[in-house]
Amino acid sequence: MSALDIAKLLRRVGRITETDTAASPSDYTPPAALAGSVQVRHVDCGSCNGCEIELAGAFGPVYDAERYGARLVASPRHADVLAVTGAPTRNLAEPLRRSVEAAPRPRVVLAIGDCAAGEGAYAQGYAVVGGVADIVPVDLVVRGCPPPPDAIVAALRQVTGK
Ligand code: SF4
Repeated sequence: MSALDIAKLLRRVGRITETDTAASPSDYTPPAALAGSVQVRHVDCGSCNGCEIELAGAFGPVYDAERYGARLVASPRHADVLAVTGAPTRNLAEPLRRSVEAAPRPRVVLAIGDCAAGEGAYAQGYAVVGGVADIVPVDLVVRGCPPPPDAIVAALRQVTGK
């Protein structure tokens, strides 16, 4: 298919996105300084990768979290939001602590998935510390195993206000 054919196809089909119907995950009020746009650093502290797939979906072309002002970045030093997934393991507790500490204030810690919330499939595992809140302060929690992309987008929208 040529570039011209692709352009014609895009014009004919238009933009296809699903309506974001997820309710806000809590009545948390984010820092006013973060309204409008946030930089998001993903931190995996012991995930099975299920939450990562949904997080990738949240930033993919269908759910497109960027249209609501949330953008992934490569370092916690550039981040306003730490999106933490997984059941925090003993050997990743300290890297999680350091990652959150590296993010400038004001910052938001978003725990994604039942494991990050301190429950779920691995909660009683010998290598699991507990939930993310047992290691660092958590502002928002998105429940589910894994939570769907629209729930993740809803939580990010709660921070950006868009
Ligand atoms: S909440 Fe479910 S999908 Fe996410 S890391 Fe835990 S087991 Fe995997």
